[in-house]
Amino acid sequence: MTSLDDLPLRDNLRGKTPYGAPQKTVPVALNVNENTHPIPEAVAHDVLGRLAAAILTLNRYPDREFTELREQLAAYLGHGLVADQIWAANGSNEVLQHIFQAFGGPGRSVLSFTPTYSMYPLLAGGTDTRWIGVPRADDYSISIASAVAALDEHDPDIVILCGPNNPTGTPLSLDVIDAVASHARGMVVVDEAYIEFAPEGTPSALSLLSKHPRLLVSRTMSKAFAFAGARVGYLAADPAVTDALRLVRLPYHLSALTQAAALGALAHSDEMLAMVGEIREQRDRIVVRLRELGFTPHESASNFVLFGGVDDPHAVFEALLDRGVLVRDVGIPGHLRVTAGTEAETRTFLTAIAELAAERGNRMTS
Ligand SMILES: *Cc1c(COP(=O)(O)O)cnc(C)c1O
Repeated sequence: MTSLDDLPLRDNLRGKTPYGAPQKTVPVALNVNENTHPIPEAVAHDVLGRLAAAILTLNRYPDREFTELREQLAAYLGHGLVADQIWAANGSNEVLQHIFQAFGGPGRSVLSFTPTYSMYPLLAGGTDTRWIGVPRADDYSISIASAVAALDEHDPDIVILCGPNNPTGTPLSLDVIDAVASHARGMVVVDEAYIEFAPEGTPSALSLLSKHPRLLVSRTMSKAFAFAGARVGYLAADPAVTDALRLVRLPYHLSALTQAAALGALAHSDEMLAMVGEIREQRDRIVVRLRELGFTPHESASNFVLFGGVDDPHAVFEALLDRGVLVRDVGIPGHLRVTAGTEAETRTFLTAIAELAAERGNRMTS
């Protein structure tokens, strides 16, 4: 048996660890920010009918241009967008990979504000793009002044702004996006994976697209849309950007089954998004209760809460797991992240963490 170290692996992949959120079968999985509500049965039946029809065509390659899907995604996004401005792939992670392949690469750099989504540096490594992580303020916000200063200092080829930010939940204002897009030389990606969970009326970076031809807005069906298992992410940008991404995608990258399933879900977008309000309520409930328990939850515009005041995150992670609740240790000292689940899942988490907090209190007073 050889080991990884014996193989002629590319230098920039040596010593790296793959993306690895634990996948465990537990009663309450609140670790990867999925929508934990099941797909409505009526939607499932419609998707099934479309899959059945698609199966009869699987002897042929799918529509390489996923034309109908792009049209429906444009209609869903609104903002006057048309199909030529839409791109899609197997999850927004693949959309991001296409962006790195087209606009990053050897000799080029990507900048983002940390802590942020752990896949960005991995995608940079995989495409030989130099990763520049610029620390956020203590409250994880980004100011216009600090963003502009970072651009002046590093002059990156790609900037990624994650708003709301994962793993912190921090909202991202349109002013910051506008300033970065105005100031950056290269491409500016806004990752709006969690935008549907932001407060009602929060403007999307989509509203800035007509002003900035190098602005790319990435979305996913994996979170609010309750479709993580189908693997569909998408992007809106200038039509020239989708022309660039076409150069790096594999032929027929979106299977006929994926396209059919996505079209089925989009035809029922209201039903698919019906639980978003309820999930926001559970998120807010988590913030309030964790604060009562003496933790320090951060402001969140997403479907998860990052909270500090955890003396030993690893021990609390394990103790929650013993109680059937899986959360995420995102590697920020003293912190854990929890996804807002159903009412019952959220109650199970809050009961478990309250017990742990009480035990800790008892230990400290005894
Ligand atoms: C979950 C997530 C995504 C979405 O990934 P998919 O590949 O679409 O499932 C993208 N960006 C961020 C910041 C995320 O947290």
